[in-house]
Amino acid sequence: MRSLPNIIVAGTPGVGKTTTCAQLLSLAAQASPRVELRHLSINEIVKERECHSGYDEELQTLMVDDDKLMDEVEKEIADGDGAGGWIIDWHSTAGFAVRWVDLVVVLRCDETSVLYDRLSSRGYKDEKIQENMDAEIFGVVSEEARDGWGEPEDGRVVELKSVEPDDIEENAERILQWVRNWIQDHGPKTNGNGNGD
Ligand code: ADP
Ligand code: MG
Repeated sequence: MRSLPNIIVAGTPGVGKTTTCAQLLSLAAQASPRVELRHLSINEIVKERECHSGYDEELQTLMVDDDKLMDEVEKEIADGDGAGGWIIDWHSTAGFAVRWVDLVVVLRCDETSVLYDRLSSRGYKDEKIQENMDAEIFGVVSEEARDGWGEPEDGRVVELKSVEPDDIEENAERILQWVRNWIQDHGPKTNGNGNGD
């Protein structure tokens, strides 16, 4: 049983996942009491543990080996120390076992011109930008998350707008608050002397 929740921060490339994760980890580290969250950058795992079959120049992306990737993810979040607190930074929820994850946050940038600028400044080709903008408009990541973790009203999939710079801090605060609520509801019970109830 984990003592902290595992959260996927998902969304179309460029919505602000990595920026939001960094803000969340920084808030959590400064909080009192401190919340021991840890960043699981799936991009880094894909590269460092070679969960891919090379770079596709045309698509401007690494061709991810999903089976290998999920084996590596499982090593970290399910086998590992099992304590939870992973903030998983990846565009997609596909392949993640429902039981590994307590909350999916889907960041949304429905102002596609804003998303366009963010992706274009990464040097993405127009075709790739268009593909990502379409995915954002159609809510592909949200739909996939709801297939796995239920409808937003069930509370395990949350969509947060990430358009303005202020949204970053606000979203990080909201996720941290959700973590605190989870700790209250599921975390180890203490009666003040650390022995539990
Ligand atoms: P992702 O990890 O989802 O691909 P990033 O966190 O790398 O996205 O953000 C992409 C770019 O957009 C970065 O330059 C970041 O500073 C900027 N950005 C992210 N979220 C916001 C936001 N809510 N408002 C303004 N700029 C943002
Ligand atoms: Mg990122």
